[in-house]
Amino acid sequence: MREFRLQRLLRTVRSVIAFVQPRLSASIKNGNVIVEGRFVVTPTLAEHTSDGAIAEFSILVVLASSYPNIEPRVSAPGNNIPQTPAHHMNDDGSCCVVIWEEWLATNEDNSIQAYFDGPLKNYFLGQHIKLATGNWPFGERNHGKEGILDAFAEILDCARNEKKIEYLLRILSKDWPRGHWICPCKSGQIIRKCCVVDLKTLSEKIPSKIAQKMLSRLRSYILK
Ligand SMILES: [Zn+2]
Ligand SMILES: [Zn+2]
Repeated sequence: MREFRLQRLLRTVRSVIAFVQPRLSASIKNGNVIVEGRFVVTPTLAEHTSDGAIAEFSILVVLASSYPNIEPRVSAPGNNIPQTPAHHMNDDGSCCVVIWEEWLATNEDNSIQAYFDGPLKNYFLGQHIKLATGNWPFGERNHGKEGILDAFAEILDCARNEKKIEYLLRILSKDWPRGHWICPCKSGQIIRKCCVVDLKTLSEKIPSKIAQKMLSRLRSYILK
């Protein structure tokens, strides 16, 4: 089953890179699909031609067979990108391409094609501009916990309060929250008598699977 999924993922990746990233190649290694080579940055989506290239980065992307359940691990060795938060580089040397849960929660299309054309392309365009000008473009989120809190407050449409966000995510992580729990709006009422409609709308927008991922992401930062 896993082998079948891997082969299917490999075919998908190959068909995506064949058209937009011909200097990358894909293969199966250690139970993952590995994409490696030169990632070509073009200024706009329309310019997927060699003439449109403004920069190239050597990259290594590890895609799990359960994509998009597991965030791809991206690294970019040998490009002289400083290993700093300002460059959206993680402590373990991997690239902070996007806040994965935010991308899952706010984009309908989470295909490989959408990932390469969206987050991955924007990230390396960002690196190119940062290296050239010293500024990260797109008014991007801060790296690390601050950026996570900004993003999650926006997705949940709630106050940017760590405790509040955590409680809300705990509720949304359940398939359906219990009506007798204390309402996250802190009215002191139980959910059933308070924000039950708002919470139902929110749980339709953010499935429990994504809420669980958001919660564990948030907790990994709180523990630091
Ligand atoms: Zn970052
Ligand atoms: Zn309430």
